Amino acid sequence: MLYWDYAAAAPPYDEVVQTLEQVMRQHYANPSSLHRAGTEADKLIKRAREVCAAALDVQPKEIMFTSGATESNNLAVKGAALQYQSRGRHIITTELEHPSVYESCLQLQQLGWEITFVPPDSSGVVDPSRIAAAVRPDTVLVSVMHVNNEIGTVQPLQEIGRQVKAVNRRTLFHVDGVQGYGKLETRLKEWQADLYSLSAHKIRGPRGTGILYVREGVTLFPLLTGGSQEMGNRAGTENVPNIVAAAKAVRMSGERRQEFSTRITPFKKRLEDYISGIPELVLNSRGDGAPHIVHFSYPGMKGEVMARRLEELGMAVATRSACSSRLAEPSRVLLSMGRDRAAALGGIRISLGDSHTKQDVEQLEQALFAAVQSLKIAEGGVK
Ligand code: PMP
Repeated sequence: MLYWDYAAAAPPYDEVVQTLEQVMRQHYANPSSLHRAGTEADKLIKRAREVCAAALDVQPKEIMFTSGATESNNLAVKGAALQYQSRGRHIITTELEHPSVYESCLQLQQLGWEITFVPPDSSGVVDPSRIAAAVRPDTVLVSVMHVNNEIGTVQPLQEIGRQVKAVNRRTLFHVDGVQGYGKLETRLKEWQADLYSLSAHKIRGPRGTGILYVREGVTLFPLLTGGSQEMGNRAGTENVPNIVAAAKAVRMSGERRQEFSTRITPFKKRLEDYISGIPELVLNSRGDGAPHIVHFSYPGMKGEVMARRLEELGMAVATRSACSSRLAEPSRVLLSMGRDRAAALGGIRISLGDSHTKQDVEQLEQALFAAVQSLKIAEGGVK
């Protein structure tokens, strides 16, 4: 089976697995304990914070560890909304966001916040001027992802940051960087980002650990209360092995970014050209998108049916998301780009990783061709 689902979870680096085991065995003490074993565990967290800070070109005290990007995004959106409600209760986000941002905004809407959801253009990119036009004196937060997790489009963050801050310099700018880090350059200062989320398992780290950059001077209303871990922003005993291993993945995937994207970009281009040549398929990803995501629809054919056929042919791909595809709902992202319901139900995401070779790509092309041919014949019966 060839694995084409790196954007959902990437296999951990060997060094990450070794680190996990080593820290788990040797540094099991609670980092809050005052004895030496505890302070040693605490030092490991401190060091991990420094490693992440160096990779993101920020200060160690601006790095927080969480249980994943879902938590980082929840904390960024709800923590900022609750903390700064005296400034206003208006938030701007996009229709492209991951559910952890999107649903957080919907939850705030139920509680009385006003949310502006800005749609992308037909290619899945948001126009910065549409975001800036929505900024008001009471806008406390703008949240925009770097790379869309479904179709891989890259959002113009620098321009968004510049235009938003020009209208209201107190409006905080949150970036969900989960699918961009390690693939594209991360420039928090140039983007004028105040908050930035990462997930370790998308960058070959352990699952269950996330990072939230919180710019110095920004405070968040904690969602988890209890102990004073993570500078009082997130209570709970730290997951030391995961934190140390996550920092390793942040460093390694940051260092390898250029090499990775240089190697993988021709594969993406080749697959996109191939898919464009199959008349039944509609390409949704763009040539200038993130190097690791290729996305297409087979309008009229449910994504799961295509994914299952590809799996029978030895290829593990993704429909837009495992949980929502069960509900047979069309993709919110594709609908927001103006795709019709048939195309929005028939999405397939292929995501590339370090292990892929030219031969793998050739095999995938053959499988795509064979899958379309066989589904075409069976059409009607399997839709
Ligand atoms: N944001 C984006 C863009 C993602 O792709 C994901 C993972 N699907 C998340 C947030 C959530 O990350 P985690 O799995 O670490 O909670």
